Amino acid sequence: MMGQQDGSQDRLFYSFNLDEHVPRDHLLRGIDQVLDLRELRAQLAPFYSHTGRPSIDPELILRMLIVGYCCGIRSERRLCEEVHLNLAYRWFCRLELDAQVPNHSTFSKNRHGRFRTSDAFRQLFESVLRRCMTEGLVGGEGFAVDASFIRADANRARGVERGQVPKWENPSRAVREYLEGVEATNPVASDDTELPSERNISLSDPAAHWTAAPGGPPQYAYSTNYLIDLDVGIIVDVEATPANRSWEVESTKVMVDRVEERFGLKPRRLVGDTAYGSGAMLSWMVKEKEIAPHVPVWDKTQRKDGTLSSNEFTWNEQANEYRCPEGVSLRSERRNFTEPRDHVTKADTIIYRSRKQDCAGCQLKQRCCPNTSIRKIARSVHEESRDVGRAIGRTPEYIDSKRQRKKVEMLFAHLKRILKLDRLRLRGMSGARDEFLLAATAQNLRRMAKRLLGVQGRTAAAI
Ligand code: SF4
Repeated sequence: MMGQQDGSQDRLFYSFNLDEHVPRDHLLRGIDQVLDLRELRAQLAPFYSHTGRPSIDPELILRMLIVGYCCGIRSERRLCEEVHLNLAYRWFCRLELDAQVPNHSTFSKNRHGRFRTSDAFRQLFESVLRRCMTEGLVGGEGFAVDASFIRADANRARGVERGQVPKWENPSRAVREYLEGVEATNPVASDDTELPSERNISLSDPAAHWTAAPGGPPQYAYSTNYLIDLDVGIIVDVEATPANRSWEVESTKVMVDRVEERFGLKPRRLVGDTAYGSGAMLSWMVKEKEIAPHVPVWDKTQRKDGTLSSNEFTWNEQANEYRCPEGVSLRSERRNFTEPRDHVTKADTIIYRSRKQDCAGCQLKQRCCPNTSIRKIARSVHEESRDVGRAIGRTPEYIDSKRQRKKVEMLFAHLKRILKLDRLRLRGMSGARDEFLLAATAQNLRRMAKRLLGVQGRTAAAI
């Protein structure tokens, strides 16, 4: 017999237990078990007044933000609607069935106000990381580092071209923050504040860099930099930088130092791609931090025209010279100077030269320096560290590290495709920092929930 609903929805009282309606294997159940916001609440307390009307519970806003970042809900307005309608979201936010969901403008006030001033998002990230460490998910033996461009919330057409000076009437929060930053590094600035002229500047978000990913169109973007532990891929630090390689590489030092200082974690090896293989970076890893560099070394010493490459010359550290295959010395200086000179060039190299009279009658001249009277070799001041990197590059361990490096790339793919963070919603460097911290926190929470509780629900499947 075909059933039919009676269609009446006018009952006044229901017996309803929210908890019973959230599936046992729901991702948010797993996250709820590993999330503890009590410490953060205590840290936020000094930023609230002791008198007046009680504010919206900061824990509620943080829980709603976690729902948004864990479930890829990017719009604050939509997040409020979803929390209002979705029982699991309501349950996670500890809201009763008839409780009021905060207005979307409350997010903006808290994000740009107390949460930013109190550095709440970093504290949240660190408290989640601490829990990951307690649960044994962070080995600390090997870290991997990488960066990924994230588009800024800035129209490509709304910018001024390189060399032009932008004029802002009614500068937005992001513009004010940018100008304050420029003034801080240029104290004589006034109305004629000297702005960086080497790139296009966005009128909406001037801190974003005009850049292009390989094969992609140019756009305004920031970089999110991840430092991850290689055991199960927990993100141990995250840093927002302009989308620029040199900033990305520098942020590695900040992250490695911070993780060591805050958590006492120092890896034995650091895995990265070619961007991290400059001589200066290798030297920082090997000499300053005593970390094994599992990164490809930038090497342009191999010649492709058939002439002798510099690795066919023998280096003698004690004599501070190269010897060519004919046994002739190449030196950086051949006489004693009254004032000792280091001979270091702007490119951080020292040039070693043979003597004209040695090369003139040499049988290898055509294979060594066919177009010049002498042979020159530029030796990096970081050559020792580069040699360490090259030696590691020939080990089976390095092959493993290369494979493990994919873990950080997968986290970026997950960030963009599942968490839908391929474009920022907040502007300015502090907006990028807040978004990247929350997204990394969400990724760690999802991973921890899956690992510890075996959460295999629909929403957890893509962790
Ligand atoms: S050309 Fe000069 S540097 Fe080159 S192999 Fe001959 S002697 Fe040595």
